[in-house]
Amino acid sequence: MRVDVLTLFPEMFTGVFGSSILGKAQEKGLVSLKAINFRDYSESKHGTVDDTPYGGGGGMVLKPEPIFRAVEALLNEQAAHSSQGEPGQCLSGPKRPPRVILLCPQGESFTQAKAEELAREDHLIMICGHYEGYDERIREHLVTDEISVGDYVLTGGELPAMVVTDSVVRLLPGVLGNETSAVTDSFSTGLLEYPHYTRPVEYQGWKVPDILLSGHHSNIEAWRRKEALRRTWERRPDLLDKLELTKQDKQWLAEIQTAEGQKPKA
Ligand code: SAM
Repeated sequence: MRVDVLTLFPEMFTGVFGSSILGKAQEKGLVSLKAINFRDYSESKHGTVDDTPYGGGGGMVLKPEPIFRAVEALLNEQAAHSSQGEPGQCLSGPKRPPRVILLCPQGESFTQAKAEELAREDHLIMICGHYEGYDERIREHLVTDEISVGDYVLTGGELPAMVVTDSVVRLLPGVLGNETSAVTDSFSTGLLEYPHYTRPVEYQGWKVPDILLSGHHSNIEAWRRKEALRRTWERRPDLLDKLELTKQDKQWLAEIQTAEGQKPKA
């Protein structure tokens, strides 16, 4: 996969893209992550990328030309690589047209399902807004997706672009080692994940549940499923409405609700 982020602050990405799982994924050649300064695509000699809004009002608005030109340059680059049929195409010559994603508080709420959808793509281009926002023609004529990371307003799209990139890249085959799997993560299964414990078996008098020490794999799996249901019911009962529960799940949920009282804590 290839991820290109268009930003006015490429230096913000150095640590995040170069460290931990994202850094290792790049070292392994599983993904190429680039932060590109779209000021370089400004037509003005001063590198202007913003202007005052038509109709008045405060704040500056990102102009369309530099962002359109930056995306076009990436598309041309991709087309050139694809036509050369370069080896290692997962990095340099993605097969499908890119998804062009605008990070935006007015976009669709980002979810694990969206991360899974984007992880099936070859090439993502993300656009980070700043200031008051961006010229509406970018939204209307350039982007394929608009994503919000939550109902709050940040200074710029850089942190959301990092959030989206991290959650997508960790889903790519080979990125997480065998020891870390995304399969049981919260939301992947539709539930919040069950609780984890590690050594010591007893800490300040608090013991690890006996079942986890039993070595009985099917009982442990059953305990984990029930605890995932409990946690989801307590904290995010809305998720249960979207899930197809088995007969066993329903029975466990009924037990949990009886034991804890009918009302979820959330
Ligand atoms: N005036 C805009 C509005 O009210 O919708 C907010 C602009 S915000 C200060 C500047 C930029 O930060 C946005 O263009 C977007 O790229 C990014 N941003 C802020 N909050 C965000 C969020 N919750 N999700 C995704 N991007 C966000």
